Amino acid sequence: MLNTKTVRVGSNVLIGSGHPIVVQTMCNTHTSDVDATVAQCRRLAAAGSQLIRITVPSMKDVPCLEEISHRLRSEGIDTPLVADIHFSPEIAMAVVPIVEKIRINPGNFHPDHQKARELFRKFIEKCKEYDRAIRIGLNHGSLGKYIIDKYGNTPEAMALAAFEWVQMCREASFHNVVVSLKASNTVVMVEAYRRLAAMMQESGVVYPLHVGVTEAGNGDSGRIKSCVAISTLLSEGIGNTIRVSLTEDPANEIPVARYLADRYSDLGSSHPFGVRDDNVIPSEASVSQMDERMTYILKAACDWGAPLLNHEIDDIPIEDEYLKDEILQACRRRFYKPEYIACPGCGRTLYDLENTFNRVKERTSHFKNIVIAVMGCIVNGPGEMADADYGYVGEGFGKVTLYRKKDPVLRHIPEDEAVDKLVELISSDSVSRLGD
Ligand code: SF4
Repeated sequence: MLNTKTVRVGSNVLIGSGHPIVVQTMCNTHTSDVDATVAQCRRLAAAGSQLIRITVPSMKDVPCLEEISHRLRSEGIDTPLVADIHFSPEIAMAVVPIVEKIRINPGNFHPDHQKARELFRKFIEKCKEYDRAIRIGLNHGSLGKYIIDKYGNTPEAMALAAFEWVQMCREASFHNVVVSLKASNTVVMVEAYRRLAAMMQESGVVYPLHVGVTEAGNGDSGRIKSCVAISTLLSEGIGNTIRVSLTEDPANEIPVARYLADRYSDLGSSHPFGVRDDNVIPSEASVSQMDERMTYILKAACDWGAPLLNHEIDDIPIEDEYLKDEILQACRRRFYKPEYIACPGCGRTLYDLENTFNRVKERTSHFKNIVIAVMGCIVNGPGEMADADYGYVGEGFGKVTLYRKKDPVLRHIPEDEAVDKLVELISSDSVSRLGD
């Protein structure tokens, strides 16, 4: 493992510097539905999530977050909570007294870059005052305009954008910082983390890294995509906390993340400080929650992910053709079906994302060489779709917008017609391409 700073979240979770890899997930309930969110947190904590993230989309959700935290603590559940903040430095400031960790996205902290820097410094001071941890959480799809104009939408841009914010923390002598650079494209994601790790090492101060593939999708494909990329980085000692994002019940993410954490935490024994075992992992957390077939799939994804992503091999010697196709596609070495991107959903999602995603997959599996995104909300969805060719984005209130690349081409379509319209759109584009 990289020799990183130690980040303490609440009183019981330590991230980095030889501590075992920390497993985390995020609620997909509406934060304003306090009962549902408390119930989901209870389940996620019991399943083995060592940190639980909750979205805070508006100021109205701040008192709900406080109530959720209060109820969990009064039940004796002390899993640290992480507030997920986009587009609002005011909400970021407001949640500091309430939760143990705050994730902000530099790409949307404030539209004006200088103003964003100024507000971030104030935010850091408040986090110091309350002894909080933060995550600087960049995503490939939501880099700030100023950085894209300078460096393009590249892994280098992602690493440089994060490094700038890391340096601000360092200048303010605030070191309770974790950094992430997620992308749905596994090649981009691996390269971005490698670059940032190298930059931090060169600078002499390395903050722990939260590693994950964003919008990985669901089922075997989502698990395999996460495993090939996360395992590649963990095998190089890059990564101290992980999330396996799936467009499913977030509890399903835990056994996969646990598998990865267990497989790679041992690497810490070669670390100068060794692996330390002061993070308490709930006893229910176990890879035994997975069946034999799933363990076989995850193992194959981890075994073959790095050599494929690193172009050390071009094929894999396994007879299971389906698994071979899935792993090769996850590593972007061969595309046997459309590439699907789907966010995991969160408190901003206003429709049945998982079922819709499955319907889109069923109806579009015959198309080749295209990227299709299914996103939970119109606020972050369009930005986070990154390089998708087509996007299905829930607007809320039973309506959907369909995108071609970055352009909304059909707006306010009733949900029950939207999958048909998406298929029509892709089909008519395919016919016109044939005519070109
Ligand atoms: S894109 Fe998905 S995960 Fe991201 S904020 Fe919207 S609903 Fe939540």
